Amino acid sequence: MTEPPEDEPASVGDRWDGLKLRLFIFIGFPLLLICLPVLLPLAAGLEKRRKKRLRAAAIATQCTRCGSCLGIAALELSDADWNSFLARVPSSGLRIRPRVVRRVHARCPQCGAEYAFDEKAGLLRLRNVGTEGSAA
Ligand SMILES: [Zn+2]
Repeated sequence: MTEPPEDEPASVGDRWDGLKLRLFIFIGFPLLLICLPVLLPLAAGLEKRRKKRLRAAAIATQCTRCGSCLGIAALELSDADWNSFLARVPSSGLRIRPRVVRRVHARCPQCGAEYAFDEKAGLLRLRNVGTEGSAA
């Protein structure tokens, strides 16, 4: 690849890219710094609310497979599964994690049926009947 001579004017695309970079540096970044004291507590509050709704849903939900109450134990089982999965995700030397999406938020302690949290409805919905027996 050859570089253009120095006396050649920059193309419109190059000027536009430079303008976008300058706009971000002089406007976007300071704006982000100014908003951080508001955004971080807001994000923490939303996450706390989501966890509270998930706990309430787990306590109120009966397993559609075996009929037992899911309860907090179902969330703890699912969290343990998730942490075990994350420990097995290979990490590269560049400290880049692959994008992973959690789809199971509760697992029945009795029959192993898996449930996903529907955040809009605030309900746990059966995702997979599970393969494990009791005493998981
Ligand atoms: Zn069950």
